[in-house]
Amino acid sequence: EPELTGDFATLMGWADQVRRLKVRANAETPLDAKTARQFGAEGIGLCRTEHMFFDDTRIAAVREMILADDEKGRRAALAKIAPFQKADFVELFTIMEGLPVTIRLLDPPLHEFLPHTEEDVQAVAVATGLDAAKLMRRAKELHETNPMLGHRGCRLGVSYPEIYEMQVRAILEAACEVKKAGKQPPAPEIMHPLVAKGEEMKYLRDLTDRVAKAVLEEQGVALEYTVGTMIELPRAALRAGDLAANAEFFSFGTNDLTQTTFGISRDDAGKFLNAYIEKGIFEKDPFVSLDQDGVGDLIRIAAERGRAVRPNVKLGICGEHGGDPASIGFCEKVGLDYVSCSPYRVPIARLAAAQAAMANKVE
Ligand code: PEP
Ligand code: MG
Repeated sequence: EPELTGDFATLMGWADQVRRLKVRANAETPLDAKTARQFGAEGIGLCRTEHMFFDDTRIAAVREMILADDEKGRRAALAKIAPFQKADFVELFTIMEGLPVTIRLLDPPLHEFLPHTEEDVQAVAVATGLDAAKLMRRAKELHETNPMLGHRGCRLGVSYPEIYEMQVRAILEAACEVKKAGKQPPAPEIMHPLVAKGEEMKYLRDLTDRVAKAVLEEQGVALEYTVGTMIELPRAALRAGDLAANAEFFSFGTNDLTQTTFGISRDDAGKFLNAYIEKGIFEKDPFVSLDQDGVGDLIRIAAERGRAVRPNVKLGICGEHGGDPASIGFCEKVGLDYVSCSPYRVPIARLAAAQAAMANKVE
């Protein structure tokens, strides 16, 4: 088991006395959450719920849900998913012992969930008793030319609200269960992905509050929770004031924000970025080290416009950049509250945050 000991632990202790930025981890499995804590993470900054669904035993139910051609079919599939979704959160919250946990509602680029082969379709047909030819037809209908700009993120929650309703219910029921078991639950931070517009945020906030109210009444438990949004689109950054009206926190999803600001596919950049780096057009890979100019401008604007509407809006970053020392330096300058990175980068982030705090004082 990884653990920080000896001189390394002492050094990290010094860093912690100096740094201002909190350091959280991106984690959705119990193993990652435990690793994150051993490395000193102060919470989970991004729990990607779609990653909880890829398991062989679960994917059939998820495919059944995605391929359903009406709400009734989706609800039937969601009823199969809800118990394991809730159990996952109970486990995660128990491990985190009251530390903050940000749960991002489902954001699958649809192609990652659609069945890829006839065999996949057969497996769903066998598992569900549904007609294979019909499932195949539906999979073709759902196919997108440009899935990263397609029916993903909160767009799924707007067109099929029952999906997000199931997730919000699972999160809050899990937190209530942890509390009833005498342990400290987190105040769950429920996060909506790929939001672009104030009206979208308002719709999602109302959905979340409506379900939360029902669950907390049913359970008879008092529990704090907050609702927030990822900032992953230039429009979201520019109109951050509109979002802040209904969002208590922002988390900069700089993987998508880099993709959408440059218009460079994060999955295909490797094919040509090297030439740009060789020719000095790019100094570094902007998907690894934050582009402090354009993407950085959008982050600054979002922080400013968000704070103008909600002065205490909590600000974090959860893209890959959250574990990159140069990017962490930028986050310190903009005054974010925390960075969130993969569990193994937490020690580096703690050191980089301390270094950034000192550099800021010297300047
Ligand atoms: C991001 O876009 O930066 C992000 C953290 O979300 P994902 O990587 O899951 O798209
Ligand atoms: Mg994203």
